[in-house]
Amino acid sequence: MRALVTGGAGFIGSHLIDALIASGYKVRVIDNLSSGKLEFISTHIENGDLEFYEGDLTSISDVNKATKGVDCVFHLAANPDIRLGTRVTDTDLKQGTIATYNLLESMRINGVKKIAFASSSVVYGEDAPLPTPESYGPCLPISLYGASKLACEGLITSWAGTFDFQAWIFRFANIIGERGTHGVIFDFIHKLKNDNSRLEVLGNGLQEKSYMEVKECVNAILHVYKTQNKQINLFNLGSHDTCSVKRIAEIVTEETGYNNAKIEYTGGSRGWAGDIPRARLGIGKMLSTGYAVEYNSEAAVRYTARSLINEIGL
Ligand code: NAD
Repeated sequence: MRALVTGGAGFIGSHLIDALIASGYKVRVIDNLSSGKLEFISTHIENGDLEFYEGDLTSISDVNKATKGVDCVFHLAANPDIRLGTRVTDTDLKQGTIATYNLLESMRINGVKKIAFASSSVVYGEDAPLPTPESYGPCLPISLYGASKLACEGLITSWAGTFDFQAWIFRFANIIGERGTHGVIFDFIHKLKNDNSRLEVLGNGLQEKSYMEVKECVNAILHVYKTQNKQINLFNLGSHDTCSVKRIAEIVTEETGYNNAKIEYTGGSRGWAGDIPRARLGIGKMLSTGYAVEYNSEAAVRYTARSLINEIGL
């Protein structure tokens, strides 16, 4: 089996590639290296297990080259920064929605009909019951990133309905772990690196979300991909519980050894406009496939803090 991974040089993509290659896939990557790093996948390239193609999903000719001759696509390329939409209003439209249209259209032209997609819990919006099951609707996202993820899901299911594609749509919780290049833990470590006397926390710290360790996330993706065979397979991927931002700040100060850093809250119930203060995914459907998640949110946060402190060099 030959798989294309879009965004394969990124945080989650590079872990997915480790797992795909370990289970015998031939892998091709298209990535424009906007937030991904070649070093995350360089061993596989040197070993000849991975074909790397530096290209951009907003370019139809790049995408056409990438999808030629593959059996399936794991689509992870996107702008990862939800907050960016508060300042730049067309990034998610271009890097998310239009990029996904280009990908689907080139898959149709090249006869590739299987797609797994990295969506997000933020499609549910802020009024959803917690834990939120996949059956909840209507989905009313409140960020531009969330709007793009929901639009991409719609494009994918419509290509399935119209052109007989098969799709696996994964709505991720917050995914954290080794090689993380963004997100709250990464930000806190960098803030403490710059000034270890204080740690600024966006919001009142009571925001509470579910965190899933990245290797568990990619194992869950592959497990569901291999065992679920409907035309549309929609799954939340997350852990059993939540962790507050206040608790994350405490864990990061403990793990960095900067226990005396003063934790300062900017106030307000959310980190930024479009941030969802409380999110927890229902994971019963994932568990019913036989995939068991081991880390709870706090354990995933502590493990990630230790890994990133080591990688960042504090
Ligand atoms: P990431 O930034 O590390 O990975 C995204 C990759 O896509 C990067 O390597 C980047 O260079 C590449 N890329 C971006 N735009 C591209 C384009 N136009 N053409 C080619 N390559 C492009 O982010 P990540 O955290 O690994 O996220 C992977 C996917 O999972 C994204 O779609 C993201 O929205 C989704 N997701 C992530 C989380 C999370 O907590 N990390 C949660 C929900 C959903």
